[in-house]
Amino acid sequence: MQIIDLRSDTVTHPSQAMWEAMLNAELGDDVFADDPTVNRLQETAAARFGKEAALLVPSGTMANLVSVLVHCPRGSETILGNKSHTFMYEGGGIAAFGGVHPHTLPNQEDGTLRLEDIKSAIRVEDDHFPRTRLIALENTHNKCSGTPLTPEYIASVSAIARSHGLSLHMDGARIFNAAVALNTDVSVLSEKVDSVSFCMSKGLSAPVGSVICGTKDFICEARRVRKALGGGMRQAGVLAAAGLIALDEMIPQIKRDHDNAKLLAEGLANIPAFKINPSKIKTNIVYFELADTDLTVEEIVNRAEEKGVRFLATGSRQFRVVTHYGVEQGDILKTLDVLGLITKP
Ligand SMILES: *Cc1c(COP(=O)(O)O)cnc(C)c1O
Repeated sequence: MQIIDLRSDTVTHPSQAMWEAMLNAELGDDVFADDPTVNRLQETAAARFGKEAALLVPSGTMANLVSVLVHCPRGSETILGNKSHTFMYEGGGIAAFGGVHPHTLPNQEDGTLRLEDIKSAIRVEDDHFPRTRLIALENTHNKCSGTPLTPEYIASVSAIARSHGLSLHMDGARIFNAAVALNTDVSVLSEKVDSVSFCMSKGLSAPVGSVICGTKDFICEARRVRKALGGGMRQAGVLAAAGLIALDEMIPQIKRDHDNAKLLAEGLANIPAFKINPSKIKTNIVYFELADTDLTVEEIVNRAEEKGVRFLATGSRQFRVVTHYGVEQGDILKTLDVLGLITKP
């Protein structure tokens, strides 16, 4: 049985063009900075995001860790959302490996942090306090229904950061989803931030890797931290080759992922066992809740799996589905059929 895997957009496999590019990639040793394919990826990414330089890292988690470690000396503080990926899902790395104090603020439903909250969280100089050094945003916001942050909002946060001498980092694991949803360019979303990271292995479907973009000086420091964390890779051009195809060819299909997510959300709204507000779905992430049923989330996930549909239970009454490359409209219709069938009283 063909499984429809909706657990995450990380499950995507390389396209045929990626396999060919990987097979034919021109390689060097990237720790010596002489892998031509990695260099080409980094130059391409920097140009695309309107930044001076870029750095390939093994994962989105390392991209955020490296970025925070460069912006924040030990004992200093970063402001970030209480539902942010960096706070929730990165093993506490910024504290464990960087000695960076996370100062969390409540993420609003749309993934933003309230501007007033940010302003009052910034510390004054006082021996009692850690020094605030960084504000970190997430775009699109994973836990907040995959909502994209607008250029206007980012500019407002940036103005606060500037006026207090702080840096601004954007975890753009799904920044291309944000750009497509807002009908804008990633360079517009990254214009006001000091550093931005994006994943090549989610909606863009490359097998491995994330890229950090920023100033030349920032990336120079990031290279040192990446090496120290064990993230210096040798013939990494095999990964970069797929990444170049990702940037070249995979953006146009993101719109289809969003359309599929919307279709799924609208269908789920018609199944009594579930509760969802489809108007909240702006990109490829769909959270929905248990409603009118005696079944548990585990029972529903297990029954769906038996019928070839795989997705996550993300709480005692909550599920998550993510659409991606390789999921067709027909798969969404089949998913809705299965979910309707297994929850029928
Ligand atoms: C997936 C993700 C990351 C990084 O995840 P990795 O699995 O380490 O690549 C970072 N931030 C957000 C918002 C994500 O969704």
